[in-house]
Amino acid sequence: MSYAICAPACALFDLSDVHVLAVDRGPRSFTVTVETVPALVGCPSCGVLATGHGRRQVLLHDLPCAGVPVRVLWRKRIHRCREDACEISTFSEVHDLAAPRGKLTTRAIA
Ligand SMILES: [Zn+2]
Repeated sequence: MSYAICAPACALFDLSDVHVLAVDRGPRSFTVTVETVPALVGCPSCGVLATGHGRRQVLLHDLPCAGVPVRVLWRKRIHRCREDACEISTFSEVHDLAAPRGKLTTRAIA
C-alpha cells in the first residue's frame, strides 16, 4: 500500500534537497523512497560539468519510526564526465543523506 507524497514525509528528513517519492508500509517495516533535487554537478576529478547517466538504487537503514524499522530507498543519481581525457567515466551522487557505500543513513549512525 502506498501513501500519497506529502510534505510531512519530506519533513521527516529535515533535508531541504531530499524529496520523498513514496512511502510503502510492509508487514514489518516502512520503506521510504527518496531522491535529491537535481543540481548541476562537476566531475570530482576534472571539474567538467557532468551529465546524467541513470540511477542506482541504494537501500539504507534508517531510524525506526514508532517502533517500526524504516528503510530508505535512495534513487541515487549516476553522472558521466564529458571530458574524454578524464580518468573518470561515471561517478555516483554524494549527499549528506548517507556516506558513500554506507548502509545506514547519516542520522541512524548519529
Ligand atoms: Zn572528469
